Amino acid sequence: MSLSVYKFGGTSVGSVEKIKKVADKVVADYRKGTKVVVVVSAMAGETDRLTKMAQSFSPNPSRREMDLLLSNGERVSASFLTIAINTLGVEASSLTGRQAGIVTDSMHSKARIKRIDVGRLNEIIGAGGIPVVAGFQGISEESEVTTLGRGGSDLTAVAIAHALKADQCIICKDDVDGVYTSDPAVVPDARRIPRISYVEMLEMSGLGAKVLHSRAVEMAAKYEVPIKVIPTFEEGEGTLIVKEDKRMESEIVSAVITDKNQSKITLLGVPDSPGIAAQIFGRIAKKNIVVDMIIQNVGGNNKTDLSFTVPQDDAAEAKVIAEDIADKIGADNVKLDPKIGKISVVGVGMRSHSGVAARMFQALADENINIMMISTSEIKISCVISEKQLKKAANVLHKVFDLGA
Ligand code: ASP
Ligand code: MG
Repeated sequence: MSLSVYKFGGTSVGSVEKIKKVADKVVADYRKGTKVVVVVSAMAGETDRLTKMAQSFSPNPSRREMDLLLSNGERVSASFLTIAINTLGVEASSLTGRQAGIVTDSMHSKARIKRIDVGRLNEIIGAGGIPVVAGFQGISEESEVTTLGRGGSDLTAVAIAHALKADQCIICKDDVDGVYTSDPAVVPDARRIPRISYVEMLEMSGLGAKVLHSRAVEMAAKYEVPIKVIPTFEEGEGTLIVKEDKRMESEIVSAVITDKNQSKITLLGVPDSPGIAAQIFGRIAKKNIVVDMIIQNVGGNNKTDLSFTVPQDDAAEAKVIAEDIADKIGADNVKLDPKIGKISVVGVGMRSHSGVAARMFQALADENINIMMISTSEIKISCVISEKQLKKAANVLHKVFDLGA
């Protein structure tokens, strides 16, 4: 008998009516003889609502309190969905992260899953029931409720799919019907990709494509959990995310990704001596801030400039760290540029085709778009440009690389 782990995001469980429809969908599959586990996010807007309310007591509540608070959003939707499933005559039980056996480290608000003790899940499935798991949360070894970071329910779903050796993890979305060649709100010509590799999806998620949480894709890739992204309330083929295969080699570029949510921090006049970069990025890593691009220029007078980008939400914190270090090491100044845009092209085909970067840069040059930073990997080229020119850049590149319908 096959086992599917379903995940429904906040908009899919955003109202009573939608939750009822989700219950119908899950039960329909269950009645076909599939074993089913469901993971849910909080109802749309709920996590933000709770966060805002907490901030009316304190601008900076402790992460521990925020975790316990926010974990409730997912518990509510899990309970509602379970009641709805029970009403259809099928046994279901809602479970908190702890009850589902999800053990994490103790990094509040950004916890990592260490393991899943699947006893309880298996018990429920074995008895013919459907476990409905509150996503986004776990329990630390110290019995503290933790959360996995915003959007973390995707990760819950993939982790459970792996732990239960499920046949697939089905991510159901209300706002898109699959993974697209570009954000349709930015590039109207974007189209759905039927099948994409983990490595490409990983680059895309890391680059700010919001379809899937990047840590979820990372885990899926590591353990080869097949992911399917499908529309919640319509019929649709969606997108299958799997290990790279021959079918994918024909395309040079698979997607154009834009990201407005990055900020650039520059340390000016950094002494050019060993250990400085290690110090800076060591301190930033300790705060769990993900640094994306890094550029260090060749400087004169034994001094150099060093720029890096971080998510906008972390920019203020990263700047404080940078300033502190600048002070200690005798750098001249720290500059924060909160409004940068990142445009990237992704494709496994780049490995076997030369000149992709040149084509990209030429296309941007033709539109008079200035490139501030460049970074590349085997299957990706990213450029930092002005945020204002992001949309234009995306549409041009989508065309140049022939991604349109
Ligand atoms: N409710 C959490 C959030 O909004 C987790 C999730 O939706 O996956 O980030
Ligand atoms: Mg979400």
